[in-house]
Amino acid sequence: MVARKWCFVPGCTNTSVRTPKKIFISLPKQISRRNAWFAAVKRDFKKVSSTSTLYCCEDHFNIEQDMENYLEYKLSKVKARMKDDVVPHIFACELDGVAAKASGHMARKGEFSELLCNQDADSEWQPNNDSSSEDIFSPSVAPENQKDKESKFQSAFVRKIEKSLRFCTGIPKEQMDFIANLVTKTSLETYLICLTFYKIKTNYAFERIAIDLGISGSHATALFVRSTLVLSEFMKQLVYWPSSKSMRKLLLEGFGTSFHNVQSIIDCLEIKIQKPSAAVHQSSTWSEYKQCNTIKYLISYTPDGFINFLSSGYGGSASDVAVLQDCGYLRVLPENCTVTVMIDRDFKQIENLLYTKKCTLVRFPSFANNSRIIYSTKRIVDRIQEFKILGPLSTIPSALIQILDNIVMISCAVINSQRRQNVSIVL
Ligand SMILES: [Zn+2]
Repeated sequence: MVARKWCFVPGCTNTSVRTPKKIFISLPKQISRRNAWFAAVKRDFKKVSSTSTLYCCEDHFNIEQDMENYLEYKLSKVKARMKDDVVPHIFACELDGVAAKASGHMARKGEFSELLCNQDADSEWQPNNDSSSEDIFSPSVAPENQKDKESKFQSAFVRKIEKSLRFCTGIPKEQMDFIANLVTKTSLETYLICLTFYKIKTNYAFERIAIDLGISGSHATALFVRSTLVLSEFMKQLVYWPSSKSMRKLLLEGFGTSFHNVQSIIDCLEIKIQKPSAAVHQSSTWSEYKQCNTIKYLISYTPDGFINFLSSGYGGSASDVAVLQDCGYLRVLPENCTVTVMIDRDFKQIENLLYTKKCTLVRFPSFANNSRIIYSTKRIVDRIQEFKILGPLSTIPSALIQILDNIVMISCAVINSQRRQNVSIVL
């Protein structure tokens, strides 16, 4: 039996089973060339054993020019050999581009980008080797029939999601066109967007979601990773700092003078992750606050519950103050405004940091008592954790840690898109 091959480019879902006609080129054995291929697709070579066999699909090459023995290969099916100086360089579909960018971003982050070092990195993005369920697309099925079958599954799946939109995605029924708009803006197919929101909201196992689509769990995982990268890249526009002018107006109208000039309530979100295998990563992600391994995010939102800043992820051992100092929040914070924090977070001595922007700090309960504010509905952190993949009962598996920033971003963007239904603080 021929071993299954899959493309090593993050976000590319080509496999020798799904796309049997494509050429899969094995990575060069010579270490420096192999590392250059990893760099080209923005993957960390340290995460993968240098002896494991990996493939790159033809989509990332100009195959006729880049292959040294193209004619010979075509005529006699000898092993494909790429020219010495060639690396994967075409990430034509937007998906691949975003995927490469996103994983590059994670790599720069240092602190937990190496988390996966000691994991079985070969299973990082790819279908499981031993999964035979992908044979549902057995080569004997004619491509036409297969397409029909796929699209039947997909439209039934979309109908199911739309029927219980709020439960399945967190998006209110009245905002059905939200998904349609995303389809237009991102060129992702509707079922991919539904799949992504559905997984994030319910955190059902991929194997379970996959049944609805007639695919394998590993294929569903790959689709999720790919569309999460694309969606978050687009949806991050929904998380922004509104202009002081528009905020002032809103505050005066809706919240009266007691909230005068409060532009930012800061809090930290901590998401439990699978215990890393390396001791150093176990300690860098160990959260004293949660008593488990976590990735931590700094979140800022306005008094009416609009998320106006989301940091990237930090290992749970980083203090709230260290995160605040490092994450870029102080760069976007306007001068001369009031910032409030939740009393139960440590945020020790941030007054000095805020003072550099001439901002004042009010700690939440005292602020609330003085101005008789009822902190009515949930904290923004609790609302984010209603997306069950980020919920207190969930544990992010190692394979998804690389896209955790993207998942959190999508959840925040969904909250921002529906904030009229949920005001976080009322007088
Ligand atoms: Zn590929």
